[in-house]
Amino acid sequence: MNKFYFLLMCPNCGNKMKYHTTTIILSGKNKRCVYCGKSFSIKDRVVKQLLGP
Ligand SMILES: [Zn+2]
Repeated sequence: MNKFYFLLMCPNCGNKMKYHTTTIILSGKNKRCVYCGKSFSIKDRVVKQLLGP
């Protein structure tokens, strides 16, 4: 099974966090920030794709 890793930045608090998924399609997916609890759109907040965990 494929795994893709991304570095995301929260639009509310600016903290960065890792996210992993089994599909490259990020449209319509949301993540809740582990720091401030605010949900945001993953697609719009990808800083970069990571090569591994
Ligand atoms: Zn946040």
